[in-house]
Amino acid sequence: MQRTNGTSVFHWLFPFVYFKSKSLGGLKLKTFIEILQPIRKKKPPSFWERGGEAKLYTSKGSQRELVDNMIAYTLPGKEFKLAKFKCLEGSKEAKTWDIASKLFPLRLHHLFTSDKLSSIDTVATGVYVFYSFTKQKFYVGRSGKADLKSRLQNHFQNKENEFHIFNYRLCKEPKEAHDLECALYHLLPDHLRINKEHPSAFEGKKCPFCETSV
Ligand SMILES: [Zn+2]
Repeated sequence: MQRTNGTSVFHWLFPFVYFKSKSLGGLKLKTFIEILQPIRKKKPPSFWERGGEAKLYTSKGSQRELVDNMIAYTLPGKEFKLAKFKCLEGSKEAKTWDIASKLFPLRLHHLFTSDKLSSIDTVATGVYVFYSFTKQKFYVGRSGKADLKSRLQNHFQNKENEFHIFNYRLCKEPKEAHDLECALYHLLPDHLRINKEHPSAFEGKKCPFCETSV
């Protein structure tokens, strides 16, 4: 394997493989291999060998993108692509869309544990994205008031819908959390999203990304 690019990439990839394996029942070589199988198909050993294509990924940004794509190969269905937002660049909505899309890479997710939850600001509002390794699906949500921490803790205690890793973002006000949640909802393809219903409106305000006026 190429010593520099390959090492950085696997350094980022491996926590995902480790957590997934652990969540699926144990740290076994067999499970590691199963998880890595779809990645190997797309990026075979020849990619990593001396002189292989991996040498093109020299910048940290391109390596991060490569890792995110490799993780996406392990998700069910066709290629995992977040939905595009057809709106003028530079608009407020485009910015919200962009911020929301940055919450998805599983490389950045935290372990969904009570330890991690205890570090979250108690009076914050915000949005969150869960991922379940067993369901292989995402769940998105928001806290309408400054109770993000207790909302996350409630989800944690509710074992019916068990999630393994998560990401979140603090928001300045409930309207921001509403708009970001709508973006999160629309970014995901239906088959990868547990939420079936469109996020609820905030004080009668419409979703910025569709005609839904719920
Ligand atoms: Zn909508």
